[in-house]
Amino acid sequence: MRARWLILLLLGACSTEPGDELDDEDFLDGKADGASTVNIKATHLDVDLAELTAVATIELEKYGHVSLEVGGLTIEDVTDNRGHRRYTTTGGKLRVSNVRGPLVVTYAFEQQDKADGLLPGGSTVIWPYFCGNLFPCHSQPADGTTFTLAIDGVPAGKTAVYPASIDAEAPPYMLAWAVGTYGKTSLGTTAAGTKLSAYWLPGGELAARAGTKNLVKVVDWYEKTLGPYSFGREMATVAVIWGEGLYGGMEHHPFFHVAKDAMSDEVTQAHEAAHGWFGDGVRLRCWEDFVLSEGTTSYLSARALSIANPALEAKIWADYQEELDAAIAEGGAPAWPAGCNQIDIIRDKLFTNLPYMQGAFFYKDVAAAVGAEVLDGVIGRFYKKYKNKPASMQDMVDAIERETGFDPKPIVDARLRKRF
Ligand SMILES: [Zn+2]
Repeated sequence: MRARWLILLLLGACSTEPGDELDDEDFLDGKADGASTVNIKATHLDVDLAELTAVATIELEKYGHVSLEVGGLTIEDVTDNRGHRRYTTTGGKLRVSNVRGPLVVTYAFEQQDKADGLLPGGSTVIWPYFCGNLFPCHSQPADGTTFTLAIDGVPAGKTAVYPASIDAEAPPYMLAWAVGTYGKTSLGTTAAGTKLSAYWLPGGELAARAGTKNLVKVVDWYEKTLGPYSFGREMATVAVIWGEGLYGGMEHHPFFHVAKDAMSDEVTQAHEAAHGWFGDGVRLRCWEDFVLSEGTTSYLSARALSIANPALEAKIWADYQEELDAAIAEGGAPAWPAGCNQIDIIRDKLFTNLPYMQGAFFYKDVAAAVGAEVLDGVIGRFYKKYKNKPASMQDMVDAIERETGFDPKPIVDARLRKRF
């Protein structure tokens, strides 16, 4: 132990000469890409929507080399505790070596047209790995970050709906804003004190009210069955205008987005709300674990809505079965592919309805064997254990077997590992 301390002291003494080791040329050139870089702790964004400029203050988990995704940004200045820093931007990465203290990046961004950043409709979507079109980031969901967000330059007569702060670690793709001519109503408060609201665009009030009829009951069930919501005291559904290629909703907690045309759909509303617990609350360890987000939320939303209004249950599962049949006919990657971050979730066709629907039916089959309430207990304890941390689908499968004695492997093989 003492010998190691001595080496550390000697190394420390060598590298603390003023100005020494400021710029590591190999790292800046991208030649040392295997070199370990530092994870993000907190992301603070000051955005000017009139100018499409922003200042990002990135707090790091420790000091060291920093590599951030900035593919769609024009970097104007980079500073840390030691002042202006030299940086490189090659291959969509901003590299700064030996960073001390928060990294402050001043930059410009642009509107994007492929559902990959700031959209023409006034809202943002950066799922799955397009955060670098909006702010300097690590797109891997395992590297959670807290956020603060401030937005200036909102056009007169419009409202920007966004969280001023997200105090628990979240996946980078969770952050979003929406700008529009919004109407708003309060939906009520859960027993745990979470206030729910709905925001609609002109002409959208009836649809918003229809889709959120049971939302307070649904969220109340999530809180009672799974555990406390970790992204603040308020939650809202926000109608947005999306272009082609996007449908349903997006888990931008605490103010999740639902496409204007899906606002009246109770299942979509309950699904996006459930991501506050799975996908956002419990993050994906690897992209291959996508089913832990989408399968779990598809199951939980069906379960919560069926308890809030038992008349809905048969129709929800009949619709899920139809969606499953269509997804199988279309094919794609298995709902739960092997490996860790070897897959491109879009190019390798993991983003199909298979993880959603095979995932939902996986849990339904397990519930048929062990009892739905027993399974609720397993999922609830899982959430409390991994809240604001990454987890894998294997962790869930293991928890089911450990806690119930039921081996779900045959269901895993038939539904999740099989390629259709
Ligand atoms: Zn989802």
